[in-house]
Amino acid sequence: MNTISILPNYINGQWCASKATDYLEVINPATAEVLAQVPLSLALELNEAATAAAVAFTTWRRTPPTERVQYLFKLKNLLEAHFEDLARTITLECGKTLAESQGEMRRAIENVEVACGIPMMMQGTNLEDIAKGIDEIMIRQPLGVAAVICPFNFPGMIPFWFLPYAIACGNTYIVKPSEKVPLTMQKVFQLLEKTGLPKGVINLVNGTKEVVDAILDHPQIRAISFVGSTPVAKYIYSRGAANGKRLQCQGGAKNPIIILPDADIEMTTRIAADSAFGCAGQRCLAASIAVTVGTARQTFTEAIAETAKKRIVGNGLDQSVQMGPVITAQSKTRIEELIQKGADEGANLLVDGRHPNITGYENGNFIRPTILQNVQPAGEIARTEIFGPVLSLIHLDTIDQAIALVNSGQYGNMACLFTTSGAAARKFRYEAEAGNIGINIGVAAPMAFFPFSGWKDSFFGDLHGQSNHAVEFFTQTKVIVERWPSDWSRQF
Ligand code: NAD
Repeated sequence: MNTISILPNYINGQWCASKATDYLEVINPATAEVLAQVPLSLALELNEAATAAAVAFTTWRRTPPTERVQYLFKLKNLLEAHFEDLARTITLECGKTLAESQGEMRRAIENVEVACGIPMMMQGTNLEDIAKGIDEIMIRQPLGVAAVICPFNFPGMIPFWFLPYAIACGNTYIVKPSEKVPLTMQKVFQLLEKTGLPKGVINLVNGTKEVVDAILDHPQIRAISFVGSTPVAKYIYSRGAANGKRLQCQGGAKNPIIILPDADIEMTTRIAADSAFGCAGQRCLAASIAVTVGTARQTFTEAIAETAKKRIVGNGLDQSVQMGPVITAQSKTRIEELIQKGADEGANLLVDGRHPNITGYENGNFIRPTILQNVQPAGEIARTEIFGPVLSLIHLDTIDQAIALVNSGQYGNMACLFTTSGAAARKFRYEAEAGNIGINIGVAAPMAFFPFSGWKDSFFGDLHGQSNHAVEFFTQTKVIVERWPSDWSRQF
């Protein structure tokens, strides 16, 4: 008989059973198999982690940056050695295809690589003689204890937008994974443990709202990173700020892509389909609205409908599969209801992917790619984040109308343009109100050495995840103004 394991927390260098009395099942979205139970840890366990991290900070901040990054070099090697196992774990608990999980882990590793440059990236600035005989120096110091609260859709990558920079800068850290996909971080923490990091530097606390609220209120936690839906991002931002925390909160999205009449339709269709249906549309950088301008309407509409129908849907572990399930049965129901809502608002269901029959996976949360045509720009379906494999088509006459539509949206995570015109591309990148822009790119995901730049209701805060933004987020500046009169010097 298979026994379902209850996942432990990792606090102060120890794997420890949670004191929780409530648990949630971790379910494989392709098969409905129960993979594990995740404890809804208590506030007192978060307190134990924060206390351990605060104690560890006193020594860790004094460890030279060159020594701190040695742990990251070890981690990079361990992540490479366990790459396939980590990718498989992501697919098991999250549903995406193995290739998508591998791509996710590659970006996670890139962030470790970038953070290995902390001895350069963390440097300050200085200027001699700001006044006669007076020098001014700006240094960066770590904050103390920091924490991240993660969403379900990138269980391997998203903690790495923050963790490597936080600890390389000399902070100590707490990870709260999504309760839907906690297994990948269990494996990552087993590797982090193998690096020999001093106890208390990194901690893992599973759970939901009780742990999150304890993070937001804990006096020893100085900085919080959040990635998830916009309503929760707003909540974290306001409660955390009221408690004086430094915050960066990445929220939801509704990403438009614009197709001009001069676009290469074959390439555009392939890229747009990958963007809309990759990861079953559960990507904060998924294209969810395609705006065709002028004659692109007919050519693109026909091509994308054909491509959508051909996409192979199934268990992500199967190499031939191009799209996996959505995360939960509730999510599937919600997406199917939103598709119906679009039809009720007057859209034409050009490709209807609801209620598919995936042989051998009758209990999985599958929806096939879906395309809604003639979606009303002001309607609910054009405004709501669906977070499923659903592309809405809107037709407009000019690029100005299309940019106006982009800029009227609540979110600003990503906007893309497909064209062969440099002038149109320049106009778009200049005027579009989104923080990540794609030109003939469908998923404009910044590399680890650029900040992940959401705008509007896709981001609350100032400094983003990744790269130099992460270094600034995880350090506080100290300015020293010094006078050493020469007549104080002893003559040697
Ligand atoms: P979610 O907001 O439901 O959950 C995110 C985290 O918040 C989880 O750890 C969860 O335990 C916690 N949480 C949920 N409700 C809470 C509450 N009421 N109080 C305190 N904590 C709470 O998000 P999700 O469904 O896991 O992830 C999908 C969302 O994340 C989508 O909206 C997607 O666009 C967004 N996302 C954004 C980015 C980005 O970079 N902007 C990246 C990935 C995902």
